[in-house]
Amino acid sequence: MLGVKEESDMEIAIIASWIIFSIIGGVIAKHKGRSAIGFFLLCLLLSPLIGIIAALVSEPNVAKLESARIASGESKKCPYCAEIIKREATVCRYCGREVSSASSSSSTTGLIYEHTPEFKEMRTRALIITAIVAAVLLIIIVLKGGL
Ligand SMILES: [Zn+2]
Repeated sequence: MLGVKEESDMEIAIIASWIIFSIIGGVIAKHKGRSAIGFFLLCLLLSPLIGIIAALVSEPNVAKLESARIASGESKKCPYCAEIIKREATVCRYCGREVSSASSSSSTTGLIYEHTPEFKEMRTRALIITAIVAAVLLIIIVLKGGL
């Protein structure tokens, strides 16, 4: 009796860590401007080890990362050389020219933040995480023989 219980606890631990590492794979992909959901599914289907390695070695989507940073107000584009620089920068670190500091617009950043694509993406992510947690709980309930 005790043996059976220990076995199912281990199964739950394996499934839980499988899902947690799949989420980590998705987060790594996200930080590279790649599809978080795509890599999460890759981890889930193949194995988190393969998915995380794939996320780590994948080429970052620079264009997507840059536009996300500009949208969030974290970065801006240098008007002279078109390189992405920090929003607070007064001198471009690429071409050395003076750029106007966008500090005046920083006060409005918080107000318009709710309407940015990033906020919407965050909301979508929260929904996905909720769905994953619900799925994990369902798996645990099924494994425990509750259904
Ligand atoms: Zn520049």
